[in-house]
Amino acid sequence: MLSVTSLLAQERIKIYDAQVGQRILVYADNPDLFPYTIRLQIDQTGLDTNKPMPEFVVLPGNEKRFVIATFYIKRNIPWKVNYKFQYMEGDANAVHNDDYVYQLPFKEGRYMMSQGYNGPSTHQGVNALDFTMPEGEIIVAARNGKVVMVKEDSDRGCPSDDCLTDGNFVRILHDDGTIAEYHHLQLNGAIVKLGDIVEQGQEIGKCGDTGYATGPHLHFTVFKTDGIRQITIKTKFKYQHNKIGFLKPGMMYSAF
Ligand SMILES: [Zn+2]
Repeated sequence: MLSVTSLLAQERIKIYDAQVGQRILVYADNPDLFPYTIRLQIDQTGLDTNKPMPEFVVLPGNEKRFVIATFYIKRNIPWKVNYKFQYMEGDANAVHNDDYVYQLPFKEGRYMMSQGYNGPSTHQGVNALDFTMPEGEIIVAARNGKVVMVKEDSDRGCPSDDCLTDGNFVRILHDDGTIAEYHHLQLNGAIVKLGDIVEQGQEIGKCGDTGYATGPHLHFTVFKTDGIRQITIKTKFKYQHNKIGFLKPGMMYSAF
């Protein structure tokens, strides 16, 4: 007997099992281009695992029948297994390359970084940066990667939780497994599409004020996960006069 309980309301990945000979294989399908980290809670009798169950399993993007657990049936012993799982977007095995120098996410102009890491307004406990920029200003990729998620169908924004899920954004997967999010894009404000490979400095979107926003700005964050929560990461930037370092809130920055 086998039962599955997801702790998330909205299913993106599918988890299922099959008996193959004397084994029970647990599979996962991921229709999205980015990885998920899955934590399984197993309750079983009469079965063997050949090694201790890992704390979590990383399910790569765009996978079908990816084996996340294997059990062995013992001869002549009745067995049962129940499992619960939870999962989060992102790769718990990702190790951010802290030496990587990010480019400012705009080409021209000189803009204020209005809220920084662990900022007092909406960044408490979050390593995110806000750049105050005009509506429609071109946003460029801060780092090379692959476009793994695009939302651009919203024209709604307001300064409250009511609009939290209305933000348009582009997400780019980096080669170290971390993901950058460029948030609050305007309606139809994505210049790239799912699966595109982008280079640092390439145009990816247009600034807007969709989602939880008081006005047009770009919210930029790089994240991974541990399977339970999102882990956001501080990143170094190159800015005016070829300086390199972490940005400070309230300062004006130009890309070149
Ligand atoms: Zn923000």
